[in-house]
Amino acid sequence: MNLVNMEKYKNSLFGNIKNKLSDWLELDEAQTIPAQEIFRFLHSIKGTAGTLELCGLMAITERLLDGIDEDGEMVWNRSDLRNFLFELIELTYEYEHFDEVEIKGKPVRASHAPLIQIIDDDISMLILLKDLLEDKGWMVITNADPVKATNQYFEMQPDCLILDIQLPAKDGFQILQEIHLHNEKYFIPKIMISIQNDKHSRIKAFKMGADDFIGKPIDIEEFIVKMERHIHRKKIFDQSVLIDELTQVYNRRFLEDTLPRYFNDYKRSGLHFSLSILDLDHFKKVNDLYGHSMGDLVLADFAQFIKSNIRSSDLICRYGGEEFVIIFPDTSNEEAKHKLTGLIKDYSAKQFNQDGQIFSVTFSAGVFTVENENVTPKEAFEEADTSLYEAKRSGRGRVESVQKASIYKKSLNVSVIDDDIIIRTVLTKALHSLQIPHFDLNIAVYEDGPSFLNSDRAKEDVAHFLILDGVMPIMDGIEVLQKVKQSNNADFFTVLMLTGRKSKDDIANALKLGADDYVTKPFSIRELQTRIERLLTKLI
Ligand code: GH3
Ligand code: MG
Ligand code: MG
Repeated sequence: MNLVNMEKYKNSLFGNIKNKLSDWLELDEAQTIPAQEIFRFLHSIKGTAGTLELCGLMAITERLLDGIDEDGEMVWNRSDLRNFLFELIELTYEYEHFDEVEIKGKPVRASHAPLIQIIDDDISMLILLKDLLEDKGWMVITNADPVKATNQYFEMQPDCLILDIQLPAKDGFQILQEIHLHNEKYFIPKIMISIQNDKHSRIKAFKMGADDFIGKPIDIEEFIVKMERHIHRKKIFDQSVLIDELTQVYNRRFLEDTLPRYFNDYKRSGLHFSLSILDLDHFKKVNDLYGHSMGDLVLADFAQFIKSNIRSSDLICRYGGEEFVIIFPDTSNEEAKHKLTGLIKDYSAKQFNQDGQIFSVTFSAGVFTVENENVTPKEAFEEADTSLYEAKRSGRGRVESVQKASIYKKSLNVSVIDDDIIIRTVLTKALHSLQIPHFDLNIAVYEDGPSFLNSDRAKEDVAHFLILDGVMPIMDGIEVLQKVKQSNNADFFTVLMLTGRKSKDDIANALKLGADDYVTKPFSIRELQTRIERLLTKLI
């Protein structure tokens, strides 16, 4: 068989699979399908898949066939079938939307990928730059509206900002001015791009804190190299500012970057961990009686004492002043308290000598153990801090833990509107596996705009994340977006548009109408998941 024919048969096979799956997925909940019918369906796919050398498909159908009793009396309903056949549904989606080159060629963005924000009202430029940068495996958020963009900048804290000068309502210089103070604390490379490429504008931009200036038309090759350099410098900078100079242990910034990972690991592995805040007792007196350099010595020595007495998997950070944080992975509340009690005892026995004056120092600690999925880093911290306060109040030189779980979650509606049942199914599954701290996800799917707009939840005053297909038969995605944006509760919505790769006008319209982000079809599920997670945790 020649290659062209092969393609034709493959398309026809997947077309048949898709039709059958769509029929089944659209059944009423009460209707059922006999096991034999499913068995015959899978069996015939297996045969054809083998002939067409579709190894992945063959392996999946073989596995599925093992799970079905051919002669059994069993019948299946829609949801059981959807779960059972999910691998096949996913593969059908992927087949329809990717050729192999594309799947392998596009790097999947990891959630720690650099985040770049582009602010430009020239939509073609926006799309071009986004594509170029995403091909590097970076994550890109785009804004045509400078007012919204500035808010997003503070919310998402990108690793790099690309900024046009001429913008409606507020120009690039004004944005630089607004983020000026923030930039004294954080290093975020800012790159100006503009048609207005004269010496005066360039000097003005650099004076206002820009790190680079690229004139339009942009030389793509040079642009990419420059971007690589900026992202690299940002990474080096981030790493170099994570160690506390005096005590040589990690600093607060590192802790804040790292802490979410412990919470995510807990959700994945279920292994609890304990978080403790340590504070030296009456440290002001050490300074007052023996001088600040002695105080510094005591602090540095304290950090080293702790470091050499905990496991290498435990993490110590200087949280600020004479406060430290230790994270004990895989450690219960009792174990952490026991460990800290030992540390307090040994540390108090240490003697410091200042010109013959002998003194000793003690510390107090508060512990909170994360053993509940719903607890957030902030809550865990507050609990540990309350316990520390309790330890101080009840005499110092001791450890306390008032483990009370005051935990609640906010409600978040997530809705998908897409006319393709396969995409709806695949997306629903992807959404159900999302882990968004703080939020209770309430997921629903709609096959067209009107059924969503007429639903009760569309009118609720609840944070609402909407994934909206751009092209739909009954009511176009753009029209749905427009209606959502005109509704009374428009402010509650974050909208992610799914658009065609070639349809620049759709993207332009979507962004103009206030879509928060867009993803071009075909998209990989993992990529979309990462994107949603990021938008949700940072945007809302
Ligand atoms: P308490 O037992 O209630 O914690 O009393 P305290 O005196 O330790 O607490 P307080 O928070 O009132 O004072 C902390 C002191 O630590 C004040 C500050 O000058 C000192 N300190 C913070 N950072 C440093 C530092 O880097 N070096 C020195 N020498 N002292 C520091
Ligand atoms: Mg203190
Ligand atoms: Mg203190």
